[in-house]
Amino acid sequence: MILKKYHIIFLFQLFVVGGLLSQTRESIPEVEALLKQMTIDEKIGQLNLLTPGGGVATGSVVSENVEAKIKAGQVGGLFGVSGPERVRMAQKLAVEHSRLKIPLLIGSDVIHGYKTTYPIPLGLSCSWDMDLIEQAARMAATEATADGIMWNFSPMVDIARDPRWGRIAEGAGEDPFLGSAVAKAMVKGYQADDLAAPNTMLACVKHMALYGAAEAGRDYHSVDMGKVKMFNQYLPPYKAAVDAGVACVMTSFNDIDGIPATGNKWLLTDLLRNRWGFKGFVISDYTSVNEMIMHGLGDLQAVSALALKAGLDMDMVGEGFLTTLKKSLEAGNITEDEITQACRRVLEAKHVSGLLKDPYRYSDEKRPKKDILTKENRAFARKLAARSFVLFKNHDQILPLKKEAKIALVGPLADSRKNMLGTWAPTGDTKLAVTILEGFKNVAPSATISHVKGANISDDPEFAKKVNVFGPRIVIDERSPETLLQEAVEAANASDVVVAIVGEATEMSGEAASRTDISIPESQKKLIRALVATGKPVALVLMSGRPLTISEEFEMPVAILQVWHPGVEAGNAVADVVFGDYNPSGKLTTTWPRNVGQIPIYHSVKNTGRPAPKDKFDKFKSHYLDAPNTPLIPFGHGLSYTTFECTDLKLDKSNISERESIEISVTVKNTGNFDGEEVVQLYLRDVVRSITPPIRQLKGFKKVFLKKGESKTVTITLTPDDLKFYNSTLEFVSEPGEFEVFVGTDSNASLQKTFMLR
Ligand code: BGC
Repeated sequence: MILKKYHIIFLFQLFVVGGLLSQTRESIPEVEALLKQMTIDEKIGQLNLLTPGGGVATGSVVSENVEAKIKAGQVGGLFGVSGPERVRMAQKLAVEHSRLKIPLLIGSDVIHGYKTTYPIPLGLSCSWDMDLIEQAARMAATEATADGIMWNFSPMVDIARDPRWGRIAEGAGEDPFLGSAVAKAMVKGYQADDLAAPNTMLACVKHMALYGAAEAGRDYHSVDMGKVKMFNQYLPPYKAAVDAGVACVMTSFNDIDGIPATGNKWLLTDLLRNRWGFKGFVISDYTSVNEMIMHGLGDLQAVSALALKAGLDMDMVGEGFLTTLKKSLEAGNITEDEITQACRRVLEAKHVSGLLKDPYRYSDEKRPKKDILTKENRAFARKLAARSFVLFKNHDQILPLKKEAKIALVGPLADSRKNMLGTWAPTGDTKLAVTILEGFKNVAPSATISHVKGANISDDPEFAKKVNVFGPRIVIDERSPETLLQEAVEAANASDVVVAIVGEATEMSGEAASRTDISIPESQKKLIRALVATGKPVALVLMSGRPLTISEEFEMPVAILQVWHPGVEAGNAVADVVFGDYNPSGKLTTTWPRNVGQIPIYHSVKNTGRPAPKDKFDKFKSHYLDAPNTPLIPFGHGLSYTTFECTDLKLDKSNISERESIEISVTVKNTGNFDGEEVVQLYLRDVVRSITPPIRQLKGFKKVFLKKGESKTVTITLTPDDLKFYNSTLEFVSEPGEFEVFVGTDSNASLQKTFMLR
């Protein structure tokens, strides 16, 4: 009843025999003892993850009779339940009423902060600061575990090169090298060194695999990709999470080579367990077992058996395992060993998180007050947000603004508390968010600010209805668009400078929020045009959960600061940067296209046999008739209020063996008028190899702070692995020959040197 009310190692590797390898942890006596006592029904019960609802139900199903099922030993874990008291009550049902008293895993989607929501992951990745990202995850884990949650459906590490796909917001962008670093940092942050500590949680990397490559950017759509591309471009971040010891893997909704990930044995057993040595447990995505029926693979019993045999251990919400596995066992389609093995892995997770010893380890009623939404956490979220912002351009050095300025603060997102947290923040509270208007007043109390809305986020009521499924995000004003615009122009004319807060509402990106037109909605474009036409200096502060097509705005004489969805401290962080208390240092982790026709667009492209000449049109070359090949804004781009110069590129060797590293150094100088940070980026080209190489690939980076006028030598080491790639037989190799190194401050880095690999 209570739950309903609140809705919502060591392993020894055995052998590889004919491609079959069985991997298990060194057996854990408590787990083995439990398994011996368990009936087949109880084992199947552990494979069942339910949600009593209340959080964000992302599918049509919400579990029923949860309480009775827990008592009957039919539930292995729950999500959508939080708070130490409620978690304690849920555990009591399992521990006091079920026969074997096995505690529940309590999971949640803590995607960018628990209650102290920080920037969406795509934004945070633009900090290129792995220590900061790890600390952010650590803070999230501390808060979540204080509220009873010990299992996190994060990090989401899907490489995404198609900004039409709304879930690009949840990951670290397009690049496998950077994405792997972020994956590792997040796993370390959530899990730290001891999973049984009361402030660490099991991380669950998702969505394995290739979810970000959904055809045409439409969510849940098919994926079709060759293995070489998969291994080199899309799989590395999942593997990095596994190498970092991630406890859990979540499967993706899409199919891979015709078999949905959730039932794909090649993916879940041959690759994940046998090749990568993953030792944790695998959970499906929300009803993704059942969805294999719609994919066309059979009825619930057939797809559930397929999933178990493929290597899936736990079934999220759909209850296919609960209701059909026994029948499949009786029919001889699966074995008891397969059920036992899945159950063992779930119990092992309970063991490593300390639950088997103390089911109430995460139910300390004193902790929320002490650990959640503390002053320090909010201050940290503000710092994280400021570091996620990317300055695209700064015409006439409009930014930073003087704190005494007379400012017209315009735009539908300027005073919109509900749109600050960003997508997938179900544990956050929009009411706690600081609006941009409030932030301006906090940071620049002596500024004269006149605030007007200026435009609706969109004037289209049908579009607004689809975006507003979780509550009003797009509020269409009772006043006419013309009246709103007129007010904005008047406010602009009466001010020294205009700051326009424009872009996407929170739910215009995220899950099931694909768009075919990723420009700023027309209502806001009109506003921007009208503001620029006043002749006043205009700074656009752009919010979005994805790259947008902003060719028109980019040509205007404006400053553009991209701030994503910044989280609970949004307004303060935006004001910190706009008024120069923090000098922006973010760098894009996705390429920004000129138009939708260029998608997919990313920096590590291949050359083709007919590369287009740079500055002229040449028939029968690889180009478009109506747009350049180059993006509007390249990967790695991001300006500062100061300027930096990289010179003096040096390699410590010109010729190395396959076992040697090479050190690459460059002098970076702060040549402008502010102290600031720069991200030195290293790209590599493998000139000749057995499979076509990308023109350049990110292989190293370092973020440095320089006082104005200061110079530093930055050294980046390329290790033997950095020269390797997966060849046509999927071996991870390097091949002798020439390598070109490019160093600079974005993916067009132009300092260049070469070395040879013997
Ligand atoms: C999403 C997952 C999420 C799950 C549970 C699904 O719809 O794809 O990322 O972890 O719901 O909330």
